[in-house]
Amino acid sequence: MKLKIALVKGDGIGPEVVSAAALVLDRTAGIYGHEVVYEEVLAGGAAIDEAGEPLPEASVDACRRCGAVLLGAVGGPKWDTLPPALRPERAILGLRKELGLYANLRPVKLNPETASGSPLRADIAQKGIDLIFMRELTGGVYFGERGRTTTPVEAAFDTERYSAPEVERIGRRAFEAARGRRKKVTSVDKANVLETSRLWREVMHRLCDEYPDIEYADMLVDNASMQLIIDPGQFDVIVTSNLFGDILSDEAAALTGSIGLIPSASLGDGSFGLYEPIHGSAPDIAGRGIANPTAAVLSAAMMLRYSFSLPREAECIEKAVLAAQVGAAGHMTGGGNGTNEITERILDNIR
Ligand code: NAD
Repeated sequence: MKLKIALVKGDGIGPEVVSAAALVLDRTAGIYGHEVVYEEVLAGGAAIDEAGEPLPEASVDACRRCGAVLLGAVGGPKWDTLPPALRPERAILGLRKELGLYANLRPVKLNPETASGSPLRADIAQKGIDLIFMRELTGGVYFGERGRTTTPVEAAFDTERYSAPEVERIGRRAFEAARGRRKKVTSVDKANVLETSRLWREVMHRLCDEYPDIEYADMLVDNASMQLIIDPGQFDVIVTSNLFGDILSDEAAALTGSIGLIPSASLGDGSFGLYEPIHGSAPDIAGRGIANPTAAVLSAAMMLRYSFSLPREAECIEKAVLAAQVGAAGHMTGGGNGTNEITERILDNIR
């Protein structure tokens, strides 16, 4: 099979982790007899420097020509003083919106074998974590009307807005995902305060009737942030809004020991998807060869599963990552495990 992949290396550690993921993809494709063709695409700070804008139209077109996009990360202090519309982050938001990628899947796993890396108390960490966030990605406060006013005092506003169809389509994905897992959906909202959350809850309850085989619970976001720490093993699929999903998934990622371990997939209605680590461009460690490439490698595995329907190949990479972590002198960055060492360990375990 020919796999046509748009590579958006981006900024900071983006190029380092994407290059590592491409090596793993190439090795895996070689074993299973696939041909990988990459198209390098400019976006983020790199695109601002080269083309004067964070997401040139040509970059969106190039992504559309491919079966999937593998992205590193964008942004950095160099571009922090630019006006909002010209900042590197616009590239990510623009790609998601332009490509209709409304569902963001973020699997968070902590295995007993790697539990020692978790900041959780040992008895909680040993029980393991195996959950997936289904975060709404193209609506909510990140895309609502925003602005500034000056009278009577200096003020700013951002608007949270959700339509019932937007909530329904992400909800449906959550229930469908649960069917292939432990059959439990937790919907996280703030329905005691926010009107958008009350609509969210109503739509989820309507969906419940269509999925009687799925166990369902509502949870307020403040409680969810606490439950993730004291009993993360209770969660299977967590469905939530753009803002809550962004924050909670970073919290959950930290429970596994490093933000450098968690991949993500952003999907629309077809097979096309954008795959990226959940971490940012980490300018503090860029160019030092110590970025953990695991999240990017696991993002590539998700790409094989969701965009190219190659679950065996995806599993091959996931198993190699776990094997590389077990017994490593600290599975996170540090302890002598630089980007190259971790990549080599993973490559050695691709079979
Ligand atoms: P960050 O995720 O880049 O870094 C947070 C901390 O985690 C840093 O200490 C960093 O060194 C560490 N870290 C991140 N990834 C790591 C890895 N793979 N291995 C080891 N350590 C890792 O978040 P930040 O510092 O808040 O943001 C830095 C820049 O990234 C900003 O410009 C921000 O806008 C951008 N950002 C981009 C994306 C994206 O491209 N999707 C997401 C988040 C932040």
